[in-house]
Amino acid sequence: MTTMTRHQQKDIKLIGKFVEVYCTGTHGRVEREAVILPETLGSRTLCPECAAFLTYAVTRRLKCPLEGEKPTCKHCRTHCYAKQQLAKVKEIMAYSGRTLIMRGRLDYLWHYFF
Ligand SMILES: [Zn+2]
Repeated sequence: MTTMTRHQQKDIKLIGKFVEVYCTGTHGRVEREAVILPETLGSRTLCPECAAFLTYAVTRRLKCPLEGEKPTCKHCRTHCYAKQQLAKVKEIMAYSGRTLIMRGRLDYLWHYFF
């Protein structure tokens, strides 16, 4: 039994994956801990900085007042995130987007952009 909508689950799963790709690729060899995602979404292994960001992103997503009115968060992320986190999410998406393309993981991008 879940209290999240399918869109919330999808978005949270995706942002978790993107942050993990970004952290692994840009933050090098640092201490990482598992960040547990809500309900059945598993966990991501991240450095403290990325863990804090992911926690923020998940919280914002669960509190989104527009739930049900939109297909995904991609259209309103700009209004939802604070300025600093918005710059960060853009950086993460750009980096992870490129990385996933190079790895041929277009399935993730497909889910994100469509
Ligand atoms: Zn990191």
